[in-house]
Amino acid sequence: MKCPVCRSENADTAHFCAECGAPIRGHDPASKGFSPGPHDPPRPVVTETMATVQKELTTGSTFAGRYQVIEELGHGGMGRVYKIFDTKTKEKIALKLIKPEISSDGEAIERFDNELRLARRISHRNVCRMYDLGDDNGTHYITMEYVSGEDLKSVLRMMGQMSAGKTVYIARQISEGLAEAHRLGVVHRDLKPQNIMIDREGNVRIMDFGIARSLKMKGLTGAGVVIGTPEYMSPEQMEAKEADARSDIYSLGVILYEMVTGKLPFEGETFVAIALKQKTETPRNPMDLNPQLPGELERLILRCLERDREKRFQGVDAILEELDKVEKGVTTTEKVLPTVPSTSRQITVSFSPKKIVVPALIAIAVIAAGIGLWRLFLRRDAGPATGGKPSLAVLPFENRNPEGDSADLCRETMIGIYDKMTHLGMFD
Ligand code: ADP
Ligand code: MG
Repeated sequence: MKCPVCRSENADTAHFCAECGAPIRGHDPASKGFSPGPHDPPRPVVTETMATVQKELTTGSTFAGRYQVIEELGHGGMGRVYKIFDTKTKEKIALKLIKPEISSDGEAIERFDNELRLARRISHRNVCRMYDLGDDNGTHYITMEYVSGEDLKSVLRMMGQMSAGKTVYIARQISEGLAEAHRLGVVHRDLKPQNIMIDREGNVRIMDFGIARSLKMKGLTGAGVVIGTPEYMSPEQMEAKEADARSDIYSLGVILYEMVTGKLPFEGETFVAIALKQKTETPRNPMDLNPQLPGELERLILRCLERDREKRFQGVDAILEELDKVEKGVTTTEKVLPTVPSTSRQITVSFSPKKIVVPALIAIAVIAAGIGLWRLFLRRDAGPATGGKPSLAVLPFENRNPEGDSADLCRETMIGIYDKMTHLGMFD
């Protein structure tokens, strides 16, 4: 059977390509036959041992005799993440519980331990500090700095696309954090908006340095199988080749592309579909999707996205130099006001009058959260904001009532408020 990515021949019974590690059609254990529905999100590539139930921590409980659980922050490919009060250091930290299937893989844990040792050396204002790898009766966990704020993916979901000014402002901070890590020989390997936090002051922190490499697990054929988010992975990583600093530069290019256009350069339902597009297509010019984009910024992004890593920027310092040039051409108005999405899917859903009965509290919370986010972006942007019109960020609500249609209700309420304010001329 031919591998759909690198075309090399594999045994009919192979689940993964022996050459490049990609799943082979019909044998991706994560996909039950590898035939996703049209709305299925791209799935990370995972190995076969995924049936084990993950331990969960409850708010108020103490874990490993020391960590008081404040709340769950989210979950990703590696496991659940909690906000913790460390009773020993008296500090709030974040703790990631590693899934049992990874935790039980001695080699993965050993790799992780080594990688964390390196990642711990990175001390930079734009990089989340990694602390320790711990073990509580066979449950491994990672402790790290707790970073407040919103992750860039959520911000992008709310805003659709960003102005060049804000993009450059955020890009510079990501690049500075990356430059320091690369200087120390640490490659991120899983750079994506979900791993970039932006706090109230507009400070950026890159999270999860040193984790992705450890997630490389052995596939059934023994080839390295990469767990990651394919949309942001470089072509060489998709082919299970060794990543280097230029692979992070590719991921940075995808992130910047998404920031300025609101879209991903290559989208697909599956890992293989994305890998094939990377190989055979060139991304749409960002300026077609955002005509206001300065040419220098478009060129910078497309250079990061070169398929061949030799053609990309060879180091982050070169990107920082280019960002300086782009910044000079960005007008003050562009820097000042956050761009309210004009093409976002969120605003195409019409306001439902039937649902106007939504509690006033929800509306107040939306506006308060919106103002918070608005201030987040105004506070650090250069130039005075005088003369600009106010903007409202549209924030999603967490649906704490899975029954009924409250999720739609919250979403449509936000959209309704947004529409109303647009009609009142409150946005540019
Ligand atoms: P992913 O990176 O794929 O989103 P993670 O398991 O790394 O998955 O993180 C899940 C979520 O937990 C993140 O989206 C983020 O909101 C939150 N999170 C992770 N690490 C931290 C941290 N150090 N501080 C605060 N929140 C965090
Ligand atoms: Mg993460």
